[in-house]
Formats: sequence, C-alpha cells, structure tokens
Amino acid sequence: MNKKIEVHIVDRSDMLLPTFPKKVQEVVKEKIYKSNVILHLNEEVKEIKDTQLITKKGLTLDYDLILWAGGPVSNQMYKDAGMSVDEKGYMVVNQFLQNIDFEYIFGAGDCISIQNFSQMKKVGVYAIKEAPYLWRNILNYFYCKSLESYTPQN
Ligand SMILES: Cc1cc2nc3c(=O)[nH]c(=O)nc-3n(C[C@H](O)[C@H](O)[C@H](O)COP(=O)(O)OP(=O)(O)OC[C@H]3O[C@@H](n4cnc5c(N)ncnc54)[C@H](O)[C@@H]3O)c2cc1C
Repeated sequence: MNKKIEVHIVDRSDMLLPTFPKKVQEVVKEKIYKSNVILHLNEEVKEIKDTQLITKKGLTLDYDLILWAGGPVSNQMYKDAGMSVDEKGYMVVNQFLQNIDFEYIFGAGDCISIQNFSQMKKVGVYAIKEAPYLWRNILNYFYCKSLESYTPQN
C-alpha cells in the first residue's frame, strides 16, 4: 500500500506549547515544519463527524485517525451545585483542601483549584501528595481538630 499519510496538528491557541519557554516553542515548531506536519494554529475544533473534523472558522479536514489531546476538562456539577469555580470550572478549595463555600466538602486531585495556586497543572504528583492531607483533614473535621494546611511543591 502506498497511501500517502498526512499529519495535521490543530490547536486553538496562536502558538505551540504556550506555557513553555520561547526557545522550546521555536525548536518544536522547526521540527514540525521539517517533518512535513501541517500545523493549524488559531483553529478551535467545533465538531468531529465520522470522517471529518471541522473548526469554528470552517477548516474541514478528512481523517482516518484522530488523537485528541485537549487537556483535562472540569465537570459542570460543581457549578450546578452552587460551588465557587475557577475560570476553567474547577471546584475552588482553600489550603486545607476544603471547599470555600461548604466547609464539610473536601476535594483533591484534578477536580480542584487551590486558592492562590490556580496555575497548578493537572498532574498526578499533586493528587498523590494531597491524598494524605485530604484523609487527615476529613478526620480532623469530624473530630473538631484543627486542619492541616497543604502547600504544593514548586
Ligand atoms: C494518559 C495520561 C497520562 C498521565 N501521565 C501522568 C504522568 O506521567 N505523571 C503525572 O504526574 N500525571 C500524569 N497524568 C495525570 C494523572 O493521571 C492525574 O493528574 C491524576 O490521576 C489525578 O488524580 P485524581 O484522583 O484527581 O483523578 P483520577 O485518577 O482521574 O480519578 C478520578 C476517579 O473518579 C472517577 N469518576 C469520575 N467521574 C465520576 C462520576 N461521575 N461518578 C463516579 N466516579 C467518577 C473516575 O472513574 C476515576 O476513578 C496522566 C493522565 C493521563 C490521562
């Protein structure tokens, strides 16, 4: 089979890897151009049909395979339940991992945004470190003891 394979990258931001240093962005961009990958920046995916991907601006790409790497997404239920959420919809907790509106609700891991640490990435290392604080603070809350403050690592 001599089917020509085309690889496209579609991203809604106007630069690749926006949170990385400029040098990294440039190196990656150059590698992409050299490998004949077609890059579409400033294009937000609106719809994925059986064989076509369509962006908000109307770019339409036929595909055989899509690898979706759109990042974590929050659950609407926090907002629906009347909890404060950050700009991405994650439940806001204080440094005791305690919901800022309902003191009897605690949270950890990818579903939360910690006050004053809203730029933390959604990675497992935070979830793992938070887990013992979550457990101890739930117990402390029940036993009316003072709660332990969690500070994320750099
Ligand atoms: C492909 C991939 C690779 C990753 N690699 C790394 C890595 O190398 N290093 C790193 O640090 N992090 C990595 N992460 C991120 C890491 O997995 C997460 O940050 C971490 O698992 C978050 O823990 P959590 O307990 O908040 O959520 P999760 O581990 O996602 O657990 C949430 C749980 O809630 C359950 N759940 C969800 N909704 C409901 C519902 N409505 N009702 C009942 N149960 C529900 C789910 O089934 C799941 O068991 C990776 C993530 C992915 C997807």
